[in-house]
Amino acid sequence: LVSREFHPTDTIIKVGNLEIGGSQIHIMAGPCSVESRSQILETAHAVREAGATILRGGAFKPRTSPYAFQGLEEEGLKFLAEAREETGLAVTTEVVDVRDVELVAYYTDILQIGARNMQNFNLLKEVAKTNKPILLKRGPSATLEEWMLAAEYILDGGNDQVMFCERGIRTFENYTRNTLDLSMVPALHSLSHLPVIVDPSHGTGRWQLVSPMAKAAIAAGADGLIVEVHPQPEKALSDGKQSLTLPNFQKMMAELDKIAQAV
Ligand code: PEP
Ligand code: MN
Repeated sequence: LVSREFHPTDTIIKVGNLEIGGSQIHIMAGPCSVESRSQILETAHAVREAGATILRGGAFKPRTSPYAFQGLEEEGLKFLAEAREETGLAVTTEVVDVRDVELVAYYTDILQIGARNMQNFNLLKEVAKTNKPILLKRGPSATLEEWMLAAEYILDGGNDQVMFCERGIRTFENYTRNTLDLSMVPALHSLSHLPVIVDPSHGTGRWQLVSPMAKAAIAAGADGLIVEVHPQPEKALSDGKQSLTLPNFQKMMAELDKIAQAV
């Protein structure tokens, strides 16, 4: 069902009045984690001003260490919904547990499946039952075929509104947090009809590399980006090192415009 052979024309995903996978590139931006009402509202207003159409922010954050910040959970979802009301941005957040799918779908517009859950088949089957678009991140060691088969679970479960998200894979290189595999953008576009989003934040782990790799992703044909932005990255409770400041995000957006016009 995910293959272009089965479905030759590009799938366009509707999120409110936005269309992902068509001629427009959509930028999803916001903090790694929702940390407070003021943090998410300030970020939402700034990224909308800069041209983003979708707000990101994690409310459920099971982390590598059990002692690290674990997210605001439902309170965080409420802050995201409030930011949507105030700004008109659509909202995406990660759902990590089958028991939370209904709750997360109630508050948000796009359900994110995190890299570590790409092959959590019960979770894939559960999000397939919602009518929400799904952002399916690539597992840190997943092949293209495994990733497409994970998407197949969601389509087979009755939800054909799936976007792939390349967020870097685990390689021997450790200067960057992950190795961003931009070759997946044209590869997926040739093999599948589903939109492809790129995450240069988790893909590099370093804010200095985010804007150059964002530009490369657009040049490679990505349908959108998901980028971590924080008003004070040095104080962020998660992923500060890869988060753009509000002015740096604005600068990246201006530069992306030029690339988008050139390709
Ligand atoms: C995130 O988007 O903050 C996140 C946890 O990403 P990933 O699942 O790609 O690691
Ligand atoms: Mn993050």
